[in-house]
Amino acid sequence: MSVQAVNLIYIISAALFIFGLKQLGSPATAVRGNMLSAIAMVIAIVVTLFNEQIGDYKWIILGCLIGGGVGAVAAKKVEMTSMPEMVALFNGSGGIASLLVGWAALYDLSGGPISGFTAFTIFLSVLIGGMTFSGSLLAYGKLSEKIDSAAKVFNAQRLVNGAILATIVLAGIMFCFNPSTTSFAFILIIVLSLVFGVMAVLPIGGADMPVVISLLNSYSGLAACAAGFAIDNNILIVAGSLVGASGIILTNIMCKAMNRSLANVLFSGFGATKTATKVEGEVKPIVGEDAYLILEAASSVTFVPGYGMAVAQAQHVVRELGELLEGNGCEVTYAIHPVAGRMPGHMNVLLAEANVPYDQLIEMDDINPRMESVDVAVVIGANDVVNPAAREDENSPIYGMPIIDVDKAQTVFVLKRSMGSGFSGVDNPLFFGDNTRMLFGDAKESISGIVAEFKN
Ligand code: NDP
Repeated sequence: MSVQAVNLIYIISAALFIFGLKQLGSPATAVRGNMLSAIAMVIAIVVTLFNEQIGDYKWIILGCLIGGGVGAVAAKKVEMTSMPEMVALFNGSGGIASLLVGWAALYDLSGGPISGFTAFTIFLSVLIGGMTFSGSLLAYGKLSEKIDSAAKVFNAQRLVNGAILATIVLAGIMFCFNPSTTSFAFILIIVLSLVFGVMAVLPIGGADMPVVISLLNSYSGLAACAAGFAIDNNILIVAGSLVGASGIILTNIMCKAMNRSLANVLFSGFGATKTATKVEGEVKPIVGEDAYLILEAASSVTFVPGYGMAVAQAQHVVRELGELLEGNGCEVTYAIHPVAGRMPGHMNVLLAEANVPYDQLIEMDDINPRMESVDVAVVIGANDVVNPAAREDENSPIYGMPIIDVDKAQTVFVLKRSMGSGFSGVDNPLFFGDNTRMLFGDAKESISGIVAEFKN
């Protein structure tokens, strides 16, 4: 196939990517958008395989079978609660792929010398790809809580990072003047990019983790874009830029959701210098039957889902309870905090899966002004995103993070299994509030109990 024909089809793929991305902006069209982008990717891959320079397909077929097989099995088996870790691994895979593509570009098939520009793009794809890979593995460990998820900061951290970065830049300059796979500079770039990825993610932890996911996502796109320049492939450049740009936009949204600047998240270490004031008081537990009586009499109820709803897989029973309440003449809404759960959009995905009507989903900024008029706010496995310490306790590590003001509702039910803290490890004064009732137990079981009461 001629280069012109390939590029023409690449333009069609790129247009489909952009339409797909646009449709991902709304839950109603997101599934279609995802499908459209997947089709665009298949078209791009198939067309690329028509490249006349490919003489032997056996390694490509083997790669597709292994990669496709691992991806399909992993996607099939992954629990909804493990999606964030899976996304971290996907980002890491994108990073290492770009590193390898950049590396492979050094073996220029034409046999001619590698230009300074190509060497520079190879340097970038190896550097960004390498740091995305190691950073994503660390993020995976933190998100899956296989390793301590807290931010790690130490004296002279910035000095060490600065020294690593300066060495990478120096090695990069040497490499660009003499691009070769065996040069000391190239090996140094690979090793230091991996080290730098770890160093970049180490000081980020606790409630700041959403930023890591979106940032690594963006890096994986930038690495792919650089790899696209290195091997002169237009669709890789376009797709990489789209991922890079959308990742940066998401990072910005996450930073805003936490009222932090990106620099603050990246360098200061979550909770590194603050200790929240100790919270004490009387806890008022409630049982399912009493919760039912209060809900039965309520005229407005707002559900506030969090990570615990994903753990309990309670979204379907929550929707069922919502419908029963509506049938009872109650106004039902779902308040969505942008960083609730363990990945951007986590709650939207769960509620969409349970067919909760989109118009009942209310964003934090829209629900907060109406919270005082809500009869009952039902907190389902949310903790950090409803912690009033973020508003009131200047010593709290999460001080300044916008929250859903459930404590301002007439009555608050908090559904969780214990008095344990959320992802950030910060105590929650909400549990001791005068208008708070704790409904202890697995959220799905608690809600099912209330549903059963309604049906009786
Ligand atoms: P939290 O992690 O703050 O709290 C979740 C709560 O769910 C826990 O306190 C836990 O309490 C409860 N829980 C767990 N299992 C169950 C169950 N089966 N039934 C009932 N309750 C359960 O969640 P939030 O959604 O409030 O906040 C998200 C946090 O995660 C924020 O700090 C955010 O920054 C961070 N984060 C967000 C990411 C994102 O992209 N959205 C990514 C990474 C981190 P108990 O054990 O007592 O049941």
